[in-house]
Amino acid sequence: MSYNEPGLGAIEFAKHFIKNMNRNDALKVTTQLLKGELHDNQDNRVKRCDYCGYWWKDNSLRNTRKTCSDGCKTSIKTLQKREQRANEFLLNPEKKEKKETLMDYYLWWLDHPFWVQEYAMIKVGWKFERPSGVSLMNYIEAKNELYGMGNRKTSKKVVNYHGNSKDEF
Ligand SMILES: [Zn+2]
Repeated sequence: MSYNEPGLGAIEFAKHFIKNMNRNDALKVTTQLLKGELHDNQDNRVKRCDYCGYWWKDNSLRNTRKTCSDGCKTSIKTLQKREQRANEFLLNPEKKEKKETLMDYYLWWLDHPFWVQEYAMIKVGWKFERPSGVSLMNYIEAKNELYGMGNRKTSKKVVNYHGNSKDEF
């Protein structure tokens, strides 16, 4: 019998037997419990969990559950999936892996996405951040000369507080 971390159902079942006991007594009782000596063997609702391996009591309506808790159910499903995938691979080993693309080097799912390979970044990135052509550069330079750096045309607003031209300077 191999054991995994006991699931909630198994723990609940064991608690039943060691209620209000000190540590030493509980240990003895647990050993007996694991051997299956404590519960009524005629009770087909008491069974070993398919995942964690401990005894538990199935309180479901039809007594058809195989695992003691949702946690154990998930774990066993994970194991089965892994096994299934391994078997699939053994059956058709030459089945091609997904073709690697440059986008695979972009960790887009992170909070702060980044490229792990510069070559891929340049190869893919330029499509989204295309460099400007020479004519646009000339245009910007000409505007810079006209309006100064920053290229922002700001209108000069003068509020006449004094009723004369004093505020214009
Ligand atoms: Zn379990």
